[in-house]
Amino acid sequence: MIDAKGRIVVDRDDTPHGDIFFSDHDFFKAHVEHPDARLYYISAPYRPRLRNGAYSLALSRRINSADGSFNGVAVITLNIDYFKTLLSLVNFGGKGSVFIVQQNGLMLARKPALAANAVSSVASSPTFSAMKAQPSGSYISVSPLDGVRRIYTFMRVPGTHLIAAVAPAEQDVLAAWSDRSLVIGLLTFFFGAGFVAISWLLAISLRARAIAQKKLQRLAGTDSLTGLSNRRAIDRRLDDEWRRARRTNQPLSALFVDVDHFKLYNDTYGHAMGDDALIAVADCIQHSIKRPGDITARYGGEEFVIVLAGAAAAGASAFAERLRAEVERLAIAHSGSPNGILTVSIGCATTLPSQDTDALKLLNHADAALYRAKRAGRNRAIHEDHPADNAEHE
Ligand code: GH3
Ligand code: MG
Ligand code: MG
Repeated sequence: MIDAKGRIVVDRDDTPHGDIFFSDHDFFKAHVEHPDARLYYISAPYRPRLRNGAYSLALSRRINSADGSFNGVAVITLNIDYFKTLLSLVNFGGKGSVFIVQQNGLMLARKPALAANAVSSVASSPTFSAMKAQPSGSYISVSPLDGVRRIYTFMRVPGTHLIAAVAPAEQDVLAAWSDRSLVIGLLTFFFGAGFVAISWLLAISLRARAIAQKKLQRLAGTDSLTGLSNRRAIDRRLDDEWRRARRTNQPLSALFVDVDHFKLYNDTYGHAMGDDALIAVADCIQHSIKRPGDITARYGGEEFVIVLAGAAAAGASAFAERLRAEVERLAIAHSGSPNGILTVSIGCATTLPSQDTDALKLLNHADAALYRAKRAGRNRAIHEDHPADNAEHE
């Protein structure tokens, strides 16, 4: 108890205090100025001259004399360590903080603790003014004291001008979430990468398959002995050329080429020599064509087919005769042949493709012409329309 002059009248213990005056303290002055005896006052932290100067708060109330005049102050002092002990019981994770601050910005206690015995002020912090203005609230901010980003929730302690705040660190609050998002992120990445890798492998294998398929297709349409197209390929290509010729109203000619007395050749020289002779004739045929639309094929055995796109009867006849002479010029010895060399007979047909005829008929006509060439004595080219073609070879 302090009297009207600020001197201790009665203390909890009986220690004599001599002439220590409290009249300069804020809690004393507050009660002098405010006549209301019901007013409780909580002082700013101060270092009392007693109790080894440990930071303390004073809780005080005015004492009036009978006439209502100021007659002193009743004071309870509270060591600030009390608040520190209180806060130490609250746990808010690794970097969380809890604090009690006065309305003037003076930090009474804080966890984690400030430097020993220090009293710091957050009065200048921009967030503190918001805290001061409202009874309660919450915000996210970087602490001016230690630079940690925290989620603050504060509330005025009822009946006092103290503000209590709890502030878990944002990092702690989000820790579980960020761990989980890291795991999910990694899983997503690996699944995505796996998906890309599998798609890539699939694309590679599909490409390899497409290449293999193309090669197979080409092989399926190629005669292995001569390298010319085979019968299967010519059926398809002849159809294409037929339709093209019909579209452009161009003539189309077909030649059937058959090696003369070839059975005899095989019998005389053997099958292997027979094969070589077929290859030589095939080369001759291959080199005879000039236009990209022309088709050469081994039709079977020692028979070849040539399709000349855009060639009329006269042109086809001339071509056939040139080819016949070319084979003759190869001068492949054939003792069983009347001429002593390997020769070919050629049957030729020409048509102007229209709706009511087809490609097969053209081949049949060429085959018929070939039959006539054979009958006429072989080593000759005969066009279906010109039975007397190359009569000089008879
Ligand atoms: P023609 O003058 O009337 O055409 O008489 P030809 O002997 O040529 O006709 P034929 O149809 O009687 O005989 C064709 C021969 O062609 C029979 C076969 O031994 C031979 N031959 C068919 N394919 C091949 C082959 O791939 N290689 C060889 N070496 N001979 C073949
Ligand atoms: Mg034959
Ligand atoms: Mg023959």
